[in-house]
Amino acid sequence: MTARAARLALCLAISLGLAQSSYRVVRVVDGDTVVLESLGTVRLIGVDTPETVDPRKPVEAFGKEASAFLLALLKGQAVRVEYDQARTDKYGRTLAYLYLADGTFVNRKIVEAGFGYAYTEFPFKYLDEFRAAERGARAQKRGLWADAIPVSTSNPIVLVNRKGSVYHRPKCRELVAGFYPVPMSDLPVKLTPCKVCKPPAR
Ligand SMILES: [Zn+2]
Repeated sequence: MTARAARLALCLAISLGLAQSSYRVVRVVDGDTVVLESLGTVRLIGVDTPETVDPRKPVEAFGKEASAFLLALLKGQAVRVEYDQARTDKYGRTLAYLYLADGTFVNRKIVEAGFGYAYTEFPFKYLDEFRAAERGARAQKRGLWADAIPVSTSNPIVLVNRKGSVYHRPKCRELVAGFYPVPMSDLPVKLTPCKVCKPPAR
């Protein structure tokens, strides 16, 4: 190798090294956003922290669980960063995939563990992989899927307020604290469908 080629190889090695250097995690903002040293706020690509699918749990409660999961994963860690086509979003946050030193793919891990959805609104290079991870989490009832009310079109679940004579769809605004799920087949005869959310009639 000539001296010139050696210098060129060294430069290349250094620039590759810089492109792959790791960043210290400063703080976890929520289940899909972190602050990295010298990069600032980073939104993880391909994952969306839930609002809950379980109407018995308040939305913020699951958001906290998702943040706690990410914090446990990233606390005291340095992460390697990979980019997709867009480097920033409209809020100026960096968009990235994160990897732990042991190779754990953080973005996918969140979906696998059921602490986030595969975010499919925009295409990204691991879309199919993340969808499969979400299917696995649902099938294994992990994380936010653990208490999810099963969806069945032939015998849908409806919700009933403890004090009340009507039944509701899961997202009805008329639901108050203390409601419980019932499959249509087990619904007490005296209950009638809500006029606001119009659940299926018997
Ligand atoms: Zn209703």
